[in-house]
Amino acid sequence: MDGFFDEGELVGVLTTQPLDRLLDYRAPAGGCHAGAYVDVPLGPRRVLGVVWGRGRGDYDLSKIRPVNRVLDVAPMREEMQSFLEKMGEYTLTPMPAMLRLASRAPGLGDAPSMRKVYRLGHGTPDRMTAAREKVLAVLEEFGGLAFTLGELADHAGVSSSVIKGLVKQGAIDEEDSPRDLPYAPLDPDHAGRDLTADQAAAAESLRGAVRTGGYGTTLLKGVTGSGKTEVYLEAVAECLRQGRQALVLLPEIALSGEFLSRVQARFGAKPAEWHSGVTMTERRRAWKMVGEGGAQLVVGARSALFLPFRDLGLIVVDEEHDTSYKQEDGVLYNARDMAVLRASITGAQVVLASATPSLESWANAESGKYRRLDLTSRFGAAVLPEMRAIDMRGKDLPGHRWISPTLRRAVDARIQAGEQALLFLNRRGYAPVTICRACGHQIGCDQCDARMVEHRFLKRLMCHQCGETKPMPEACPSCEVEGKLAPVGPGVERLAEEAAELWPEARIAVLSSDLFGSARQLKAEIEAIAAGGADIVIGTQLVAKGHNFPLLTLVGVIDSDLGLQGSDLRAAERTFQLMRQVAGRAGRAEKPGLALLQSFQPEHPVIRAILAGDEEGFWRAEAAGREAAGMPPYGRLAGIILSGSNLEETFALGTALARNTAPLDRIGAQVFGPAPAPIARVRGRHRVRLLVKAPKGAPLQQAVAEWIRPARPKGDLRLAVDIDPQSFF
Ligand code: ADP
Ligand code: ZN
Repeated sequence: MDGFFDEGELVGVLTTQPLDRLLDYRAPAGGCHAGAYVDVPLGPRRVLGVVWGRGRGDYDLSKIRPVNRVLDVAPMREEMQSFLEKMGEYTLTPMPAMLRLASRAPGLGDAPSMRKVYRLGHGTPDRMTAAREKVLAVLEEFGGLAFTLGELADHAGVSSSVIKGLVKQGAIDEEDSPRDLPYAPLDPDHAGRDLTADQAAAAESLRGAVRTGGYGTTLLKGVTGSGKTEVYLEAVAECLRQGRQALVLLPEIALSGEFLSRVQARFGAKPAEWHSGVTMTERRRAWKMVGEGGAQLVVGARSALFLPFRDLGLIVVDEEHDTSYKQEDGVLYNARDMAVLRASITGAQVVLASATPSLESWANAESGKYRRLDLTSRFGAAVLPEMRAIDMRGKDLPGHRWISPTLRRAVDARIQAGEQALLFLNRRGYAPVTICRACGHQIGCDQCDARMVEHRFLKRLMCHQCGETKPMPEACPSCEVEGKLAPVGPGVERLAEEAAELWPEARIAVLSSDLFGSARQLKAEIEAIAAGGADIVIGTQLVAKGHNFPLLTLVGVIDSDLGLQGSDLRAAERTFQLMRQVAGRAGRAEKPGLALLQSFQPEHPVIRAILAGDEEGFWRAEAAGREAAGMPPYGRLAGIILSGSNLEETFALGTALARNTAPLDRIGAQVFGPAPAPIARVRGRHRVRLLVKAPKGAPLQQAVAEWIRPARPKGDLRLAVDIDPQSFF
């Protein structure tokens, strides 16, 4: 890279504005570095940009304006520029959109502001209370470190008024300090655990990989509870010892309370967090400190991948198979795959951890592209739950009952033993369908081609596509007969009703993402349950993800067949993963667990593979099927999603695309469609899909780019490309 530009030199600036080229400016007084974040004039406005390199000078030189100002943040590193370019090429995303992903922190240009911090003072309080002692003990433990009011109150478990009281007495000093403080240092040797032989071998292998200082990816596969987290935290420790930064990606970051406490216990302080629940000021702090090296470890959601790490040595993708790693709107990317890309550019190690890896990662390990480490047994006394199917055929449950007598008896037994049972149903709300018993009409969303789901708790109907809600009508919207609308099928809320009737004495908790106002509330509820605050937990897939419920010994899957319906390429894989994950919730402590799967097709190969626990057999069969069909990971797919308010125009665009496929033909790719998307209308916009299927190794992106270039969508028509699509809705 050219390094530095003197005042007046031409620089090419990438802005966040949707333009298809770099803009030329003159370097400001004092010059600027390549990669510098700048504020530049664009027409009458000022916009954010990054000095991408030398200017092209192919524009009227007399009209070129100078950069307004260089922002007070670390310049973007060359490695990051290259990552954004490569990812842009891979996902066919224009560079301004890539830059927006990489600069998602507010007030990057603001002058550093101040805030109050607290540290140990010299005065002695007039009288000691337990709360005051706790505060002073925390400050003593952390030596000279300064805390914010919130951090200190949190750490000590007291209210902020206790701290204010101590300030008045001079026992604590209150000072002004720059807002964006470095994070408390993490100590890699703070509290390592004694690992089992299995774990120790895996940890040593990962440490060795981190020490090489270069790129490599390892699939860390281990049953739930085998200690994957313990093991990869050792890789993090080694990375910190090397003085490099580490990133741990989690799928449902909002639920990481337990995880953060584990990190704190292991390293003696909290890491930086990056996810939607983090306040704007904390976001800016994290962004800046990651760039300056004031954050050693970030625990975050997928977008943490775009933080400006100064020296990233390790990326852990926990629950790597999780579908939430795929961003499904805006820039369509899979954070797991992009983590591998970023690591390969920057020379970092990647650890993909899962009990049930994606077929992609499994195949990459088979072919030797990734290393693979296996943890085969659960830690300590915990053993894998026994799994059994409950054949629901001929059970003749009444129309509003879903819990079979066998499952009911199993729950009875847990309640008597003072243990917990989980009833799993992957459906939010009260009932998925509301039907009119007079005319048969099903209530649908006005904006989408989808049924409205009753949410009794909210007292409304909700569309799970667009989020639109409306009150439950008195009369049928179609035939106008009153009092005939009835729920059909169960959601978790309705299942909770059944459970309350069956076990009136039991404490029942429902865990579903829509029932909690905030991530914090949800986190608190999960912690309360883990501590024994419920006898029966009723939950959606939210509960499948990595929480420890030590008292839980029974999992009842209400409808094991649910995920097997539909034609999704990954239906079998998903069901297999989800069932195994859910079953893994049971028996994590000393007591053995039992998983009961209610199914109308217990002979289905997927259900049988789940029960038999023959994972390698399942993967091999699934892989053979995909290979024979030329499907991923043995072939490549790209989805084209067209949308618009006018159905004919949207379809016409698809037909035009399908008519001229020369660039795709050249790489031996096939085109399917256009066809109405399975959900053919969302938010009033019609949706039409095409699917491109290419041989593995074919230059898919270039061909798709060339193919769609002439299709310039007019008016409100939109064209989105989804490389490696995960869902086909
Ligand atoms: P996984 O990530 O594979 O689900 P965890 O790392 O969460 O497994 O381990 C499961 C439980 O066992 C956790 O409570 C963890 O603290 C405990 N555990 C695992 N290994 C050890 C160990 N070597 N020493 C003490 N506790 C351990
Ligand atoms: Zn809708």
